Amino acid sequence: MRVAVLGAGVAGLVCAHRLSCEGHVCDVYERWPGLGGQAATLDVGGGELLERYYHHLFTSDRHIVALYEELGMGDELEWHPSSMAFFVDGRQWAFNGALDLLRFRPLPPVARVRMGVAVLLLQKLAKEAGPFEAITAHEWIASRMGRAPWEKIWGPLLRGKFGERAEDISMVWLWNKLTLRRQLEGDEARQELLGYPRHSWELLFDALRTSVEGGGGRVLIDRPASSLRRDGSGFVVASGVSGSFRSGHDPRAFASPEGGAERYDAVVATVPNDAFLGLLDDDLRAAIGSPYLDRLRATEYHTALCLLLELDRRFSPFYWTNIADTQIPFVGLVEHTNFIDPARYGGRRFLYVANYLAPGDPLLALSADELLDAYMPGLLAVVPDFSKDWIRASWLHREAAAQPIVTVGYHERIPPLQTGVRGLVLANTTQIYPEDRGTNYSVRLGGDAARSLLDAASLLHA
Ligand SMILES: Cc1cc2nc3c(=O)[nH]c(=O)nc-3n(C[C@H](O)[C@H](O)[C@H](O)COP(=O)(O)OP(=O)(O)OC[C@H]3O[C@@H](n4cnc5c(N)ncnc54)[C@H](O)[C@@H]3O)c2cc1C
Repeated sequence: MRVAVLGAGVAGLVCAHRLSCEGHVCDVYERWPGLGGQAATLDVGGGELLERYYHHLFTSDRHIVALYEELGMGDELEWHPSSMAFFVDGRQWAFNGALDLLRFRPLPPVARVRMGVAVLLLQKLAKEAGPFEAITAHEWIASRMGRAPWEKIWGPLLRGKFGERAEDISMVWLWNKLTLRRQLEGDEARQELLGYPRHSWELLFDALRTSVEGGGGRVLIDRPASSLRRDGSGFVVASGVSGSFRSGHDPRAFASPEGGAERYDAVVATVPNDAFLGLLDDDLRAAIGSPYLDRLRATEYHTALCLLLELDRRFSPFYWTNIADTQIPFVGLVEHTNFIDPARYGGRRFLYVANYLAPGDPLLALSADELLDAYMPGLLAVVPDFSKDWIRASWLHREAAAQPIVTVGYHERIPPLQTGVRGLVLANTTQIYPEDRGTNYSVRLGGDAARSLLDAASLLHA
């Protein structure tokens, strides 16, 4: 088969790799002028690559670890201790395990114990998602831990990811985070270990590209799909001109050159739901049908807004600081070089200032300098000595479809991989469930998408 894969993020590249391994020829279309989607890197100078958005792996991320091994790159992954803190009541509080919880004075002592017991019981006893499908995390925490833990810890954490929708987030999401992420036995019992590839995520993308090209396919960056239509039993993909990414995410805004369309036997789209909807012509929309399209239209995403600062010194002692202070307009501080030795970057230090915002939030319209001005009081609240003089360089990235909003009943609204049109598969982060989306699950999703396409094709020819 000749297959068009739309999107060269982890899911798209893995899907194309799997199909290539099965003897199919794939063209991968990518809007951005680089590989990797949300895990794409940028050159921060001197050839050093860093992810546009902070990235690490958990020890439970077995699909991506297996992929590294399959590609002969197992040595790329290193595991380092993580250090986490909460900024609350005017200071950073270490938060790496049970002892830190017992010392966490923003919570009354009884609440600390109650919260610790509730988390432990959940981790030990709750093996199935089912009981958590119909309840919000807010309700569960209020009933099992009390109000104080919601106000000081969980509320700010969920607001950090889901903004004003924090109280609507399903308990399944939190159950999964708490039970899957960390091994409670072995090396990790005392301190969480996180993974990072020695040379950034880029080498993985290069290896997947090589695999696709080895199968006779092409990986076309800065070449977005601009429309998709049926042609007999196949599809025609039109592509936008180079630089289309500057026009935003809606494919209808991309200019398509004459003759820039190609025919394929099948299409796997790994783009966000709204981008997928924008690709379809009337005939394809009618063929897919309203029930499926309504699921896509019902998806809510929050935008990631991520300011990366190169600093001339360490900002704070922690890798990851959750901001649990509603006066501060960002949600996290991720100091990459408190996780990876700055020696790897010639002594340079990098801090991500993280945010997730609802579409239309005024912060999304600011330039890097304007955003820094808006963030300065918050940065000074965490580290009072901080000064703009510490900053050597800055980069700002926005990811529109970064975080699907996972409310109660979400699983009933997930669109299946099969769109209902033979040969057209949709595979994106909204289908990752009950886990929180991440590169590991996009590896799994890319494989599932390839399998789904091939299974449907073999049924057809059986
Ligand atoms: C701030 C932030 C921090 C994160 N931290 C972590 C972490 O620590 N660990 C972790 O594992 N994961 C992390 N993630 C999540 C992880 O990066 C994603 O879940 C994963 O990379 C998604 O891969 P994907 O291929 O499914 O989707 P995407 O990466 O979104 O890929 C979709 C691709 O489609 C492209 N596209 C869109 N429209 C078109 C079009 N019309 N034509 C062609 N291409 C198009 C996009 O440019 C993109 O490359 C983070 C994400 C963010 C935003």
